[in-house]
Parts: sequence; structure tokens; C-alpha cells
Amino acid sequence: MSLNRLFRLISIALLTLFLAFALALVWMEWNTYRSGANSVPALRKLRLALLAMEKISAERGPANAAMGAGAPLAAPLQARLANARTQSDAALSQLRTALEADPRLRQSWALDKVRLVQQGLGPARANVDRVAHLAPQDRSDVLVVAAVSSMVDLLPLMVRVVSDLSNEADRADPLLRDGLSAVRAVASLREYAGQVGSRFVAPLIAHRQLTQDEVIEIGRLYGRIELLRTFIAGQVASYSRDPAFASAVDRVEKEYFDSGFQFLDFLLQIGLKAGEYGVTPDDLLKFYVPQMASITDLRDLLMSDLLEQAERHSTRARDLLILVVSLTLLACLFFQMLMVLIARRVVRPLVQATDLVAGLVEGKLEQEIPQARHQDEIGAMMRALHVLKQRMGERNSLAREREALITQLQASSNTDFLTGVLNRRAFYTHADQQLGVARRYGRAVSVVLFDIDHFKRINDTYGHQAGDAILIGVSQCVAQSLRKVDVLARYGGEEFIILLPESDLVQAAAVAEKLRAALQARVFEVEQERRITVTASFGVAALTAGEALDRLTKRADIALYRAKRLGRNRVELAGEELEEP
Ligand code: GH3
Ligand code: MG
Ligand code: MG
Repeated sequence: MSLNRLFRLISIALLTLFLAFALALVWMEWNTYRSGANSVPALRKLRLALLAMEKISAERGPANAAMGAGAPLAAPLQARLANARTQSDAALSQLRTALEADPRLRQSWALDKVRLVQQGLGPARANVDRVAHLAPQDRSDVLVVAAVSSMVDLLPLMVRVVSDLSNEADRADPLLRDGLSAVRAVASLREYAGQVGSRFVAPLIAHRQLTQDEVIEIGRLYGRIELLRTFIAGQVASYSRDPAFASAVDRVEKEYFDSGFQFLDFLLQIGLKAGEYGVTPDDLLKFYVPQMASITDLRDLLMSDLLEQAERHSTRARDLLILVVSLTLLACLFFQMLMVLIARRVVRPLVQATDLVAGLVEGKLEQEIPQARHQDEIGAMMRALHVLKQRMGERNSLAREREALITQLQASSNTDFLTGVLNRRAFYTHADQQLGVARRYGRAVSVVLFDIDHFKRINDTYGHQAGDAILIGVSQCVAQSLRKVDVLARYGGEEFIILLPESDLVQAAAVAEKLRAALQARVFEVEQERRITVTASFGVAALTAGEALDRLTKRADIALYRAKRLGRNRVELAGEELEEP
């Protein structure tokens, strides 16, 4: 796998892993934030439920008083009762509206229970009104107990609503759990405190002793109240070190347990022995009920603190979410930049360098090597490649020069320096090969030897330089008249030799005759525009079977000698036998 591809695969794998990790983190924070965002609305609904529960309890105060008062009911008491009922109705309908507005609670048990309480309030109130409208002597104990109970019996439903909503808040923000249980305990304390008061209403109205059931019920409530008292003190102390909480608990101790509860104790003592309490339900309402305000104050204090806490938690969760998202984005960006950096600074130059080295090995010296841009290892490699390319270039040009020199040397060792045609040594090498081929395939081959006539005179007359020019001119004139396959060489001084492949004696003689005529006809111009003509004598010999080159040229030489002897400027053919010169 190529480095580029490998790197791309690794980058993608790492980025995917990283993104998965980052998304999981963001998802977790998002969930904390979202459920935390539910905590404040849940607490607000819980507060409404606690308020409604309190108002229904509080309604029992004037209701009890009305059942103990004379008929018709005095206007102020009637107004208080009506006011209490309006308040509990308002609190309930506010709670119901809030629950109905929340899509998740629209189908909940909590809402069903609130509706049940609303429905139950009518008959309970009718029971109270029925007793209140009777003449005092007609208010039987059974009716009063039933009326009181019908109001008290609505409360367990409200307790369940409070419990549901409290669980909802707890789910949204588990850190609120301690505070929530304290609030619920305080609300229960308020409720039991109210209930224990209500248990005295019927005996007060009937001026009778407490029945055994009532004693048991009051004892049970006392037990619960004591339990809650201890629980609340401990819970609130561990919940907050704020002195406001300690002093609110103190107030409950002083106002409710020291005076309110003592008042109940006093009623209980009378109720156990005789029925003459000297207290009406209205007195109970006026003295006992206000002592419970300290309990609802503690509840409100806890509740508002919980709301503050929930808001703080939700703000912190939101800030944390923003932080995590920003850090994730930043990290992603950084990661991406890192990958690009590695790709640009390491992988790409490395791949490029590998290609360049491979190219250099193949001899591609024309390829451009990029300039090193950084003072790092890759930069050093690029610089080294530059040097390598330069050295290879130098070496190649040296090699080329050497080759040219060798070719030149070869050429100069094979050619005659004056005329440029082959020299005698080269001729022999060449002719040997040709003769070999001719012998093997049984083909004809001939040589023509010629010598310029009276050349000495030309030298003497026109000078050595003119003689040189004539030699050059003669070689050119002859070369022009030959075929490509024919080989012309300077044999010595003014003597030349020609090898004619594929030519027998007759053909070679014809060539010699043609050359002789051409030379004779040629006018050479030498210095001072002097015009000179020359002639030459030719000896022609054709290869005989099994003959060596030496013998062939020897026969041609003898023929040439004969041509000179017979008057020059003529062609003589060699016989097959070696004649005497
Ligand atoms: P012939 O062959 O007709 O018998 O008479 P010749 O005058 O040509 O013969 P000879 O062998 O006596 O003379 C050859 C002359 O060629 C001698 C020499 O000075 C001259 N010669 C040989 N080589 C060169 C050369 O390279 N340049 C010049 N200018 N002359 C040369
Ligand atoms: Mg001569
Ligand atoms: Mg000669």
C-alpha cells in the first residue's frame, strides 16, 4: 500500500474514532443539560402541588370552625370559609393547568389525582355545609366526624401528587434529592399537624370525651409528627449550613412544638378524662392554625432554595455543554490541521522524494526538484537530492564527452588526415571482412588501385600545398563516382585503392575506366586561380577462389605498374596468376 493511501486510511480511522468519542461526550453532556433543564419546571409544579395541599388543609380550619359555630353562620366566619375555598380552588386549578400544559404529564396519574381531588372537594364541602346549617343540638357526632373525614380523606391523594412531582424533579436533577425529601417531610408535617387539630373538632363540638378510635388516631399522628420532627431537624442541618435554615427550624420548634403542640396536649388531657374543653373549633382555628405558619415558612424557604439550586445546576450544565462543544470543535479543528500538516510536511514530500529518486535512478535528470522550504529533515533530503542531481548531471556530461572523444579518436585512427577517406590500415580491416563475406557466399569482389601520373612534377611546379589540394580533389572526384558499398582508401602518397563488393573483373574494369575518364576531365583550381588537370593509371584485379587480400592487392599493383609502363592514363587488368612485375 502506498504511503499516501496508508496515511489517508489512518487519518480517516483516527478522525472517526475521535469524532465518536467527542460525540459520546457531547451526547452525555446534552442529556445532563436536557434533564437538568426539566428540573426547574418540575420544581415549580411541585411548589404548586404543595401550595394546593396546604390550601386544602387550611380550608379545614374555617370549615371546622363553621361546624362548631352557631347557625346561621356569622358573616366574618362565612367570609373566611368562602375565602379559604376560593384559595384552595385557585391553587388546585393553577396546578391542574400547569400539569395539563406539560405534554409529558397530560396523561399522568398526578393529573388524574388532581381531578379526583377537585371532584371530591364538592361533596366534602357539601357535608361541611350540611352540618353547619343544622341547629347546634342537631349536629350529631357521626355527621361531624363524617364531614371532617371527607375533607381529611382528600389529602392522601394530594400526598401522592406531591410524591409523583417530587420524583419527577428528582429524576431531572438527582442532586436535589436531599432538599426534596426535606420539603416533602415539612409538607407532611404541616398536613399531620392540621389533621391532628381536625381530630379534636367533633369532640369540641359535642363537648365529649375522645373515643378510643380517636385516641388511637391522634396517637398515630403524634407518632408521625415526632418522627418528622427528628427527621426534618437532621435533614435540614445536613442540607444547608445557611443560618437561615437553622433559624427557620428553630421557629418551628418554638412556634409549633412549644406553643401549638402544647395546646393540643392540653386538649388531649381533657379529651382523655372529660368532655369540657372550654374551647370552640373557632378558638382552635384562631390559636392553633397560625402556629403552623412557621412550618409553611420553612417549606417555602426550602422550596425557593431548591429552585435556586436547580437553576444553578441547569446553568452550569448549559455552560459545561457549551464548553464541551467548543472544545470538541476546537480539538476537531486542531486534529484536522495536524493531519494536513503531517500530510504536507512529511508524507507528500516523502512520496515526492521517492518518485524523484526513482526518476534519477532511471536517468530522468530533466525533472524539477522542488526547493527545500523548511529547515527540517525533509528540507535536508531535498537539498541532498539537488546535489545528487547535479553530480549525476556532471557525471553524465563527462561520460558523454568521453564517448565523443572515443568516437573522434576512432575516426581519426581510421581516416586519412588529409583527404578524409579511410587510411590503409582501416582499408585492410574493412576489406578483410568483405572478402570473408564474399568467400562464404561465393560472391565476386574486386579491387582497383590507382596512382596519379607524374605527381612529383605538380609538387615541383605548383608547390606542396597545391599537391595536397589536388590529392583532396582527386579523392572527392573518385568518391562522388562510387556506390555506397564501395570503399575508397588512401593507399600511400598519391596512390588510392578501391574495394568493389559484388563486382567481377569486367564490372570493376568498367568502374576504373569511368574513374579514369572522370579524373582526366576534371579541372582542379589551385591558388592564384591556376587550373590544373591530372591523369591517373589504374590496375584492376578480381578475387580468385581461395585468394588472400595480400595476393589480390599485389596483382592489382602489378597491373598498375603495367599501366604506368604502357604509357600511363590507362586501365590494366590483372591476370589470375601472379606475374613478374
Ligand atoms: P609516376 O607515378 O607517374 O611514375 O610519377 P610520379 O612523379 O607520380 O612518381 P613518384 O613516385 O616519383 O613521385 C611521387 C611523389 O608524390 C613524391 C612525393 O613528393 C609526392 N607525394 C607523396 N605524398 C605526397 C603528399 O602527401 N603531398 C604532396 N604534395 N606530395 C606528395
Ligand atoms: Mg605517381
Ligand atoms: Mg606513386
